[in-house]
Amino acid sequence: MYDFLIVGAGFAGSTLAERLASQMGKKVLLVDKRTHIGGNAYDCYDDAGVLIHKYGPHIFHTNSRMVFDYLDQFTKWRQYQHRVLASVDGQLVPIPINLDTINSLYGLNLSSLDVDKFFASMAEKREQIRTSEDVVVSKVGRELYEKFFRGYTRKQWGLDPSDLDASVTARVPTRTNRDARYFTDAYQAMPLHGFTRMFGNMLSHENISVMLNTDYRDVKGYIPYKCMIYTGPVDEYFDNRFGKLPYRSLRFEFQTHDTETYQSAPVINYPNDFAYTRVTEFKYLTGQKHPKTTLVYEYSQADGDPYYPIPRPENAEIYRQYHELANAEPNVHFAGRLATYKYYNMDQVVAQALTLFNKIAEKEKNGSAVVYAGNGNGNGHAVNGNGNGNGHSHKNGNGNGNGSRSEITKVLKREILRR
Ligand SMILES: Cc1cc2nc3c(=O)[nH]c(=O)nc-3n(C[C@H](O)[C@H](O)[C@H](O)COP(=O)(O)OP(=O)(O)OC[C@H]3O[C@@H](n4cnc5c(N)ncnc54)[C@H](O)[C@@H]3O)c2cc1C
Repeated sequence: MYDFLIVGAGFAGSTLAERLASQMGKKVLLVDKRTHIGGNAYDCYDDAGVLIHKYGPHIFHTNSRMVFDYLDQFTKWRQYQHRVLASVDGQLVPIPINLDTINSLYGLNLSSLDVDKFFASMAEKREQIRTSEDVVVSKVGRELYEKFFRGYTRKQWGLDPSDLDASVTARVPTRTNRDARYFTDAYQAMPLHGFTRMFGNMLSHENISVMLNTDYRDVKGYIPYKCMIYTGPVDEYFDNRFGKLPYRSLRFEFQTHDTETYQSAPVINYPNDFAYTRVTEFKYLTGQKHPKTTLVYEYSQADGDPYYPIPRPENAEIYRQYHELANAEPNVHFAGRLATYKYYNMDQVVAQALTLFNKIAEKEKNGSAVVYAGNGNGNGHAVNGNGNGNGHSHKNGNGNGNGSRSEITKVLKREILRR
């Protein structure tokens, strides 16, 4: 009998698994339908031996000491300050827009004081800030909006900024100094040996079993557990009964080159040219020394894996209905970006998971009864779970869904720990 069945081995699921196992001695089964741990932060070595981020570049940054200290237990770090250039008017200039961006683009020699006046002279007065276009134009004017924001937003969202809610671009970070760092958080660092290794360390506790290549719906019916933590898409959990929550997706195209470095910055944004939005060269992020280098080109698209929730009022309304159901679901906690239909950075997801853990621990300390949820019969809304574990398969192909649960988890756990 597991105390917790956790769905999803990303930051949300892995943090909760680790805390519940190490701090409360809970027995945890962590399942993920992918063939690996780490969720979207998963990294791995490509065929050339270059460490890449399979689901797009992930850079860790946080202002939360609590989150940093928590993850610090599972990895050594490499100090890393992220930098991004934008390709505009045939030049590569720093983004967020800073003093150097303006001086390079306009061939000026402004000081920090002058550049503030420059932005003010460009800005257009808007009575009401309703759309993303209003946010940018009212701060830096139409010309910079056209050069840096409009094309990028159209590619990213498939919508013109004038059709996107102001919240999408709540703030336009511009700097009057020469600070070219992309983030200004207090903690900016990358796990020294990559994210996946860090996840491996988080999940190495003996109370945690990991099952990969497994949709929870295929096993939920025959694995007894007391409580579930669900970090998958909330609409899928409720069989899309209010409709599918819309997401913007991405296609990643990886290119390896026979040279140590290929481009002049970790990330180059292309607001106006080409079909892709940005190109990332991983070795800048990872610090890996290697004679070859791999880059990823990102193409935004409507269909595919869910990446960015689309922030429109009608979608918020659909989510509100799912949220109500989720709140009423007995013995299931919903956590992470997909279960709460929000774009969160990694540190925010860890913070959310730690908060949920504290709530669970507090509840148990206060003696609240935990009702037995799993009955081996796939109660509730199980889609495929029918008490027989049909349809279950895993990486080694030696789990048949009817085989012994402990055998399957042991094999998978060995697989994970081998990494
Ligand atoms: C392109 C891109 C770049 C990003 N870059 C950054 C960055 O630079 N810095 C930063 O801080 N954040 C970044 N993020 C955000 C970061 O990816 C998220 O904060 C983080 O991955 C969220 O973790 P999670 O555990 O909530 O979700 P996930 O990592 O998505 O984990 C959820 C897991 O649940 C599993 N799952 C879903 N349904 C089922 C099911 N039915 N059965 C079993 N398993 C299931 C999924 O396979 C998945 O592995 C980026 C996001 C994107 C899209």
